[in-house]
Amino acid sequence: MDRHCGDSRPTDGERAAVDALLGPPESSWEGAGRSDADLRWARGGRAARDRRDLLLPGLHAINDRIGWISEGALDYLCRRLTVPPAEAYGVATFYAMFSVGPRPATVLHVCTDLAGAAAGADQLCAGTTERLGSDVQVERSPCLGLCERAPAALAVRAGDPVRTAVAAPATVDDAVRAAGAPGSAPEEPPAAMAVPQAGQEDLVLLRRVGVADPASLHDYRAHGGYAALRRAFALGPAGVIREVTDSGLVGRGGAAFPTGRKWQATASQPGRPHYLVCSADESEPGTFKDRVIMEGDPYALVEAMTVAAYAIGARRGFLYIRGEYPRAIHRIQHAVDQARVRGLLGDDILGHGYAFDIEIRRGAGAYICGEETALFNSVEGYRGEPRSKPPFPVEKGLFGRPTVENNVETLVNVLPVLTMGAPAYAAIGTERSTGPKLYCVSGSVARPGVYELPFGATLGELLRLAGVRDGLRAVLLGGAAGGFVRPDELDIPLTFEGTREAGTTLGSGVVMAFDDSVPLLRLLLRIAEFFREESCGQCVPCRVGTVRQEEALRRIAERTGAAAANDIALLREAGRAMRDASICGLGQTAWNAVESAIDRLEAYA
Ligand code: SF4
Repeated sequence: MDRHCGDSRPTDGERAAVDALLGPPESSWEGAGRSDADLRWARGGRAARDRRDLLLPGLHAINDRIGWISEGALDYLCRRLTVPPAEAYGVATFYAMFSVGPRPATVLHVCTDLAGAAAGADQLCAGTTERLGSDVQVERSPCLGLCERAPAALAVRAGDPVRTAVAAPATVDDAVRAAGAPGSAPEEPPAAMAVPQAGQEDLVLLRRVGVADPASLHDYRAHGGYAALRRAFALGPAGVIREVTDSGLVGRGGAAFPTGRKWQATASQPGRPHYLVCSADESEPGTFKDRVIMEGDPYALVEAMTVAAYAIGARRGFLYIRGEYPRAIHRIQHAVDQARVRGLLGDDILGHGYAFDIEIRRGAGAYICGEETALFNSVEGYRGEPRSKPPFPVEKGLFGRPTVENNVETLVNVLPVLTMGAPAYAAIGTERSTGPKLYCVSGSVARPGVYELPFGATLGELLRLAGVRDGLRAVLLGGAAGGFVRPDELDIPLTFEGTREAGTTLGSGVVMAFDDSVPLLRLLLRIAEFFREESCGQCVPCRVGTVRQEEALRRIAERTGAAAANDIALLREAGRAMRDASICGLGQTAWNAVESAIDRLEAYA
């Protein structure tokens, strides 16, 4: 593809897709026919730059309508947004869900990540490829966030509108049917099916899932919805931050940073505007709790974002959702629309004179966009590459403005903090890890799904609840960026401090059980491959280290003992370099799981 605005023209369909997002072009500068108006004005400078953040939605619009992004379509989008085509090409090729080469209108994404691999994803890939022929492109996909129903496949058929269908757990027949007619595929099971505890009275975060209709604002309010926002208005922004600080709530994405401190640091910044960003881009293999919340209790997230924005003085919030989550996007969009209609978003929320609204942005398949500054770049229309810190987002975040970024689970915790009060919330869990915690349990268990337990329960208690099967070989805690523990370590308390003391991590709450039928060395290779593929490549330790790690693991795939010693030494050296010198968490954690498999599980002894 030539990377400048050339003579390529968009097709009518491509032009229509872009115009449906941006409106018709206003001048020939933007791709319309020449008119007298062109002699008088052109969109440029700030007016043009201000629309750069529409680049990712524009790429989605073309990809959704056509199935891939041609040179003519990219050029047209670039003219409309005044973005250099070379930069737009760099953005389009950054994301796994886009293609800049021709491909069939229907793509079947088959999850080949950890839970999928353990449940037969390779056979699913091979079977569907053989049956579907050239009308459907079968793509091996990183985790689709459907681990409780692995193996899983997502069919996407481009058109107007784009159609999607999920098959999970998928047989070859199911996946072929979904790809053949995504518009008429059977409904997915309700979100509550992913919550084995659904309906239990002692639940805090999941209490409405399976109980209240996720499409009904009335039902949400009848089950306690919007009580937290009313209390927030009664407390005032400073009072809300005090309450959140006193509750001891820390971020649930893995870094465990105190939420109240983050909010206070942003609220006190003199620069305006302030932004709230919610990351619903959970891409850690094995994680699916945010999807279940958005599908099962979407208004809770809308309310929680409104509370957070009020506390930090933001008028605009962005909700960045994985592109692989079509039902969650649909449910949240519906909830946002209804909240607007009922005065719960907009210029005068609940008559308190406070204005706030939420924009939904769709990711396009990039694990690294779970890193907060990569996510900001992605929203702004740049490649989703992490920024060096400092400056920290509380000072310079989205669009260079003070920004709070929290994930879905962190935000929905704010609701019970306000409705119960900080002391009651802080009484749940342990002194240093307060509140309830969600876990995504999958693998060799009878009842996979999202579980809610107070911090402090042990790993063994959680696994017994999920019905762990006999022959347990290892448990992966925290996903690919986490670490393995042995079956004799199930008394590890699930708290930030307890897992740290045990030399492992809670991460984002992934708990994947593997029995002795699962080929452990193949899993390690898949983890290494995952990090090599997902590294954004901008810093050397990670870009090179993830490649070296995968190469070494391939070399020693079937070797143990002395025969593996040199490669294990190389793995340690590369791992140390990645951990010490990478810019962001991806490179810093890319060696964790492999290291734990070598040291704790004696994978190559
Ligand atoms: S550590 Fe890896 S993912 Fe993170 S910025 Fe560096 S190259 Fe990119």
